[in-house]
Amino acid sequence: MDLRIENVTLVYPDGDTTLTAVDDVSLTVPSGTTTALLGPSGSGKSSLLAVAGGLTPPTSGTVSFGDGPPVFTTTTTRDAATAVRLERIGFVFQQPQLIPSLTALEQLELLAHLRGHRPSSVRDRSLEMLDAVGLGPWVHKRPGTLSGGQRQRVAIARAFVGDPDVLLVDEPTSALDHERGVEIIELVTSLGRRFDAATLLVSHDESTLGAVDATAYLLDGRLVARPAAA
Ligand code: ADP
Ligand code: MG
Repeated sequence: MDLRIENVTLVYPDGDTTLTAVDDVSLTVPSGTTTALLGPSGSGKSSLLAVAGGLTPPTSGTVSFGDGPPVFTTTTTRDAATAVRLERIGFVFQQPQLIPSLTALEQLELLAHLRGHRPSSVRDRSLEMLDAVGLGPWVHKRPGTLSGGQRQRVAIARAFVGDPDVLLVDEPTSALDHERGVEIIELVTSLGRRFDAATLLVSHDESTLGAVDATAYLLDGRLVARPAAA
């Protein structure tokens, strides 16, 4: 399903005044495609992702999936947002955020259980996803014995295990070297296409983004035309 961000503004309190982190942004990410979101530090990329993922309610505007009614608005309750996140959104952050005591397979099974999937379906789906990210031989390894790139692949497999409509990815390659970074972007993009997720991917490094379908630029919270090469 398409991810539709419509006229989203996010204002934070800032001492006696306010700070407009996201300023009237409208953006659609078509189902099965990846849009990269670029912009300097502080331009509002993570804030926009937080609204798109229901982690922070917008000050104004809406987020919807496909042609459905808005899933996140100014009045969405925390519980309603949590339910949407659990069922319909996959997240990948800069750090993989794995649980040290669990194997790769157990990291995925835990999330599938939280999503209420039938126990018998969880293992096959988890193994399928770990295989899809190239970790077939390492499914019983714990994070401490995996490389940084492998850990991020576990996080990607976990993001896809519940078959999300929308995938939100924030700076997934900043802890990796360039070559590993390119591989991770290619992996996210190809899995998004294969599993028909609308993917919004924040990056500060345009050189790793050859595989993405579209690019959007934020500056001071506003979408802007592609800037001249810096
Ligand atoms: P980016 O991800 O592009 O670096 P952010 O979305 O993190 O940008 O931040 C955008 C602006 O909002 C910055 O000025 C930042 O300081 C501010 N900001 C981010 N999070 C908060 C918050 N929780 N409270 C107040 N201001 C915030
Ligand atoms: Mg950020």
